[in-house]
Amino acid sequence: MNAASNHQSRFAALQGQKPDAIDTPALVLDAEAVNRNMQRMAEFAAKHQIKLRPHAKLHKSADIARLQMQAGAIGVCVQTVGEGEALAAGGVNDIFISNEIVSPAKLRRVAGLAQLLKNRSGKLAIAVDSDEGIDRLALAMQTTSAAIDVFIEIDVGQGRCGVAPGPAAVALVQRLQGSARLRYAGLHAYHGGAQHLRTVAERRNAIGQAALRVAATRDALAQANLAPAIITGGGTGTFGLEAASGLWNELQPGSFLFMDADYARNERDNAQPAFEQALFVKSQVISVQDGHAVCDAGCKSIALDSGPPLVHALPGQPALIYASGGDEHGILRSATAGGPLPAVGDTVWLIPSHCDPTVNLHDAMIAVQGGLAAGAVSAVVRVDARGA
Ligand code: PLP
Ligand code: MN
Repeated sequence: MNAASNHQSRFAALQGQKPDAIDTPALVLDAEAVNRNMQRMAEFAAKHQIKLRPHAKLHKSADIARLQMQAGAIGVCVQTVGEGEALAAGGVNDIFISNEIVSPAKLRRVAGLAQLLKNRSGKLAIAVDSDEGIDRLALAMQTTSAAIDVFIEIDVGQGRCGVAPGPAAVALVQRLQGSARLRYAGLHAYHGGAQHLRTVAERRNAIGQAALRVAATRDALAQANLAPAIITGGGTGTFGLEAASGLWNELQPGSFLFMDADYARNERDNAQPAFEQALFVKSQVISVQDGHAVCDAGCKSIALDSGPPLVHALPGQPALIYASGGDEHGILRSATAGGPLPAVGDTVWLIPSHCDPTVNLHDAMIAVQGGLAAGAVSAVVRVDARGA
């Protein structure tokens, strides 16, 4: 088997073709919408004088990460070592692994990545939340001549990773001082549980609570002469609140670039720019039976963890509702009782409910310029860190 040539035979001839030529199921980007989302986020960060380090766990693409940096981002976040390696291989030089890494095998790769980026005048950063995590990282970094920026992760309300705010965080910063290759960079304070709270009031309350924890930690650190230079956090649901708090000085949202149906269910916060749906799964109707149609996109091409996708009806297409039909199938029913169904062979455009895991199911994102109906393929973007 030759993966590279498979990839080429499926995608290479697409450039300049109509969307009709894209075989299904396939991940399709509305290139203009992606660009507008990127610009709006960059403008927001510039206007609020806050640094932007978008999360690349969304797109896993070195090309897109570099575009984001050209548009003003200072670097990107990744969630895994493999994502960091893939983006570095594609020329990205400023990477923050916003997660705890503790296995010696992975930490050896972290050390290697830090060295690689240092050699290119770039830098690597990572999060830690325990003594053990610091000691393991310090041990691995002894094998390099590079240093690594270290963020102490504090739990600001999600109850996932992160040390308790206040004195426990101060103790971790003090422990960092014992290793010359670990550079204390600041605090990682991300509240994942707040991102999809539906109302603005709920999100404001959650980030208000998070801000109290961040402020208490910052003050305790300042008293110990260890004031954090950078406080990083914020996702697509709440970044306007972190920006307005006066505490965070770096934002790390990811999903805003493509958006998804679940984020679209959030009540809009007018303090944040509006983002457009830019990510679609193109699918084809392969069967029509009494009362339902079946399309060729199941959970192997679209993530269902945040609910079923929406069906994006282009002008003239029937309004449909998607239900899971298994790994390779989606069941489509009319949105109105007894209403029209598509025909065998028709195209259906699906809006994923959760963008990040959907992207990870595909080798490539096919960018279309000029609209899904009448446009043309402008680029085929590899998902470099797929599965990493
Ligand atoms: N930062 C961290 C640590 C995350 O885990 C995530 C997403 O899970 C993000 C930022 C980006 O969030 P979103 O894609 O919702 O904007
Ligand atoms: Mn996500």
